[in-house]
Amino acid sequence: MRTHWAGRAFKTLFWVLLASALVGLLINQIAWALVAGLVLYQAWHLRQMIHFQQWLDAGRNELPPEARGLWGDIFDRIHHIQRRDSRMRGKQQLVIDRIQASTAALSDAVVMVDTKGRLEWWNRAAERLLGLRAPDDSGQHVTNLLRDPRFVEYFEANHFGEPLDIASHLNLSTRLQYTITQYGEGEHLMVVRDTSRLHNLEQMRKDFVANVSHELRTPLTVIVGYLETLQDSDEPINPRWKRALQQMEQQSRRMQNLLNDLLLLARLENEDRTIEQRPVDISEMLKSITQDARALSAERGHQIILETGSGIKLSGADAELRSAFSNLAFNAVKYTPDQGEIRLCCWLDEQGAHVSVGDNGAGIAAQHINRLTERFYRVDSSRSTHTGGTGLGLAIVKHVLLRHDGRLDISSTVGKGSTFTCHFPVSRLA
Ligand code: ADP
Repeated sequence: MRTHWAGRAFKTLFWVLLASALVGLLINQIAWALVAGLVLYQAWHLRQMIHFQQWLDAGRNELPPEARGLWGDIFDRIHHIQRRDSRMRGKQQLVIDRIQASTAALSDAVVMVDTKGRLEWWNRAAERLLGLRAPDDSGQHVTNLLRDPRFVEYFEANHFGEPLDIASHLNLSTRLQYTITQYGEGEHLMVVRDTSRLHNLEQMRKDFVANVSHELRTPLTVIVGYLETLQDSDEPINPRWKRALQQMEQQSRRMQNLLNDLLLLARLENEDRTIEQRPVDISEMLKSITQDARALSAERGHQIILETGSGIKLSGADAELRSAFSNLAFNAVKYTPDQGEIRLCCWLDEQGAHVSVGDNGAGIAAQHINRLTERFYRVDSSRSTHTGGTGLGLAIVKHVLLRHDGRLDISSTVGKGSTFTCHFPVSRLA
């Protein structure tokens, strides 16, 4: 196209020069005729350029000025490009309008945040759920408007693998779930969902379990009390009844343990994450847990070894941590055959503090490992029932660790044994 145009331009110039030369020949003034021809030619270009400028200034909807030759082609071509452009723009606008209409109709809030964390665009639900106001809030930093410290921490940490679930700052009874996805060159797409209904149902479930456990505790205490009294009484008891009473007491104690674990779990789940923060001497705690584990093992003859440096301290809740480590140690005793070896270790490194309980028992097959911390999940339910477990031990461990920013790691080989390791970050060291 460029050569075509250049060709036409040179051709026009050639004809102008030729015509000027001929006129020059006629009047015998070739040089002046050429100069005059070029000046006229230049004046014609200047005029077209002025028309061109006026047309551009007049706006897109104006028809191009009338022109012939090269300039006529230029005007037509630009007019054609403009028409194509405006058709494309119209189509794009339609797509944008449809996207905006569909996101506006969403009940979830959708917010676009730029690379610097400033609000770029949001839908109507975002105004309702987050209280954003257009156009005042546009360009504001997201943490200036959503100031909950947990949101600020979540946004600044830049790890959006898990959604954040917190109460709304506009209405504390509304629960909001924030899901953030990064796209482009560091922009964020934030989707906020009202999860109050789900949260309330979950809360009802937790309350129900906690209330039932609480209500069952008193009658059970009475039953256990009477069973003990009956067994301790001096009156002779029929041997058949004696065995029945023993079993009743044993099962009632199991139920008591179950209720205690359910209540503990309900408390761990219900209370806010900001738990008691006191320095807890883990080395000392493990020493006393080792004693308790030896007492539990008694004549089963486990070799229980403790390897710990002294004065390793974590900040947290003493009773919760004790409950977690005891569960791991007592599980090791329960699930390791007599005379087996159990090793409790505690150490520090640059990643933080670590507590591990290892055994050389039967081990756990790989397919069970991910599910062990679920409530009532058992690898072998007959064996677990026999050992008197409640099926809640590892769920309690998981919750305690979550509340202490920790994490449980389970490694096990069938036939060789298992190791349960609790990892705590440096921020938890006291
Ligand atoms: P339980 O009260 O049944 O012991 P837990 O939640 O403490 O419940 O443990 C869940 C299951 O994990 C147990 O039923 C058992 O099958 C398995 N388990 C836990 N600790 C060990 C271990 N040290 N060795 C082998 N299996 C274990």
